[in-house]
Parts: sequence; C-alpha cells; structure tokens
Amino acid sequence: MRALITGGCGFIGSHLAEALLDRGDEVTVVDDLSTGRFENIEHLVGRPGFRFAIETITNETVMDRLISECDIIYHLAAAVGVELIVKDPVRVIETNIKGCEAVLRIGARYRKKVMLASTSEVYGKNEDVPFDEEADRVMGPTTRSRWSYACSKAMDEFLALAYAKQLSLPVVIMRFFNTVGPRQTGRYGMVVPRFVRQALRNEPVTVYGDGQQTRCFTYVEDVVRAIIGLADEPAAVGQVFNIGSTEEVTIEHLARRTIELAQSSSPIVFIPYEKAYEEGFEDMRRRVPDITKIKKLIGWEPQINLDGILERVIAYFRQSQDL
Ligand code: UDP
Repeated sequence: MRALITGGCGFIGSHLAEALLDRGDEVTVVDDLSTGRFENIEHLVGRPGFRFAIETITNETVMDRLISECDIIYHLAAAVGVELIVKDPVRVIETNIKGCEAVLRIGARYRKKVMLASTSEVYGKNEDVPFDEEADRVMGPTTRSRWSYACSKAMDEFLALAYAKQLSLPVVIMRFFNTVGPRQTGRYGMVVPRFVRQALRNEPVTVYGDGQQTRCFTYVEDVVRAIIGLADEPAAVGQVFNIGSTEEVTIEHLARRTIELAQSSSPIVFIPYEKAYEEGFEDMRRRVPDITKIKKLIGWEPQINLDGILERVIAYFRQSQDL
C-alpha cells in the first residue's frame, strides 16, 4: 500500500507513519510544520519507502501529485489544541475547513480512500455519556471561540459524508478521544504533557476549574492500531467511529496520579478557566466514548490503561530534551 499522511510530522501522524512503514507500506508525509515538528519524523528519513514534503495541504498542485500517487490518504493535518483555538481562531477555522475540502476534492478526482481524523469535540457539551456515534451534538454560542474547532471538524465530517453519498468516495471518519503519548507537546494546552512536565520539574500542577471535569485518555499506539484496523476493513467505509478509552477520570485525579507516578513534590493549584483561557470559556464536563461499534467491527479496544500511559509519558519526558 502507498499511504499519504497529511499532518505526518504531528504527534499522531508520526506514530502512524512508523507503524505503516513497519508493516511494509510506502509512506509519504505532507506537513507544513505549523504545529508538527520535523524531529518527529527525522528517524524515519532514509528508511525504504519513506518520503516527505514540507508543504501546506492547500497547495493544490503538490496535493494533486501526491494524491494521484497514493492508494490511501490519512488526513490528519489540522489546527488542534484548545489554547490555539482560543488564541488563533482564524487559523483553526481556515486550516481545518479549507484543508479538508482540498483533500476530499482531489481525493474524489482520483477516487482514493480517505481516512478522516475527527474529534470527540464534535459532541460538544452533551453530558449524556457515553456518546455513541449517533449522539446529539451540543454546541455553545458562536461568541465562544472554543466551539469553532468542534464546528470546523463537524463541517469536515459533513463534507466527507457528502462526498461519500454523492460521489461514492470511500471515506472513514475517526473521532479521537484525548489521545496521548510520546511526542505530544504541551504547547497547545494538552493536559497530560503539561502535567507530566510540571510534575517532573516539581512545579505547581495547574488544574483548571474545579478539576471535576472528566476525560478518557487513550495511548497513541492503541489509536494507531485502530486507524490501521479501520483502514484495512472494507465494511468501515462510509461510517463514523469513536476511538477512545472508556476509563473515565477527573482532571484532579489525573493531576494526583501524575504527581505520584513521577514521584514529584509538586503541589496542585486550581486556576479559574477565565484566567487559563479567556472570559466566558466553556469546558466539557464529561467526555466518554461508547466504543461498541469499532469493537464489533474490528475487535478493537485499548490495551493500555491510565497508569500505563502516564508511566510511558513520564519515561519519555525523562529521556527527552522537551523537559
Ligand atoms: N487542563 C487543566 N490544566 C492544564 C491543561 C488542561 O486542568 O494545564 C484541563 C482542561 O481545562 C480540560 C482537560 O484538562 O478540562 C483536558 O484538556 P485538553 O486541552 O488536554 O483536552 P480537551 O479539553 O480538548 O479535552
């Protein structure tokens, strides 16, 4: 298989590139290095079947060539991270909508399968957990920029499903739930790398709000296994899948467990949302996937629990320069 990974220098994309090369696929990465890092793929350069282009996915000439030369597109390029969304909403909306539109349109020109990365954010502040793929989406007002990310990804999903319906384009939509692991940076606000760095430096661990909001953290290797499993399964085409762990934890528990496992002396500090993000910021109270659908189709479920994830991320930060 010849795979094209958009956003392949990013956290999930670089792990996917590695796994696909390991099983003998040819892999081309396209990334504009806006949030991705070249260091994430540096170790792959020179491996047989690997090539990369530092380019934006809205460059139609380049994308036309790259898509014509591949068998399957893993579309992971997107502007992500709550901090980035709050600080630079124009970039988030434009990158996510224009980029995806270009990938789908050119993908349709050559009839290439598109694996579209989406997000659990699309469920918004629905609290009726666990969310199955048909659950309602509950969004806040357009005056709160946080919701622009969820809406941009939902628009990508609508567009992908429209291409599937009208032009029979083979697409699979993957809704990721808080994926974590090595190479994820805390730069755009992601909680696990932030907590681990703070704990390892014995600095205060910053819990936003009352810390009773919950998330389910999924290890990147489990996520990559799900992506490849869905790509290999013809019956997944035209459908939406949740990909995530069902181990629900509060952010306060996450902070305590990180401090314990890192053997840190960090205190926990609670920071109000308006100080952490902006006035009127709205968070999701609970977020838990129903993973019945993917489990039934390809037998996937996560293997690594929260402690296993934290141990791996702590080990990664201990030996990396990111600290
Ligand atoms: N969070 C926190 N401290 C931080 C960064 C994030 O308490 O330093 C909280 C954040 O408000 C949210 C949760 O951790 O409730 C998960 O945040 P993240 O940005 O990782 O993902 P998302 O909000 O998209 O689930």
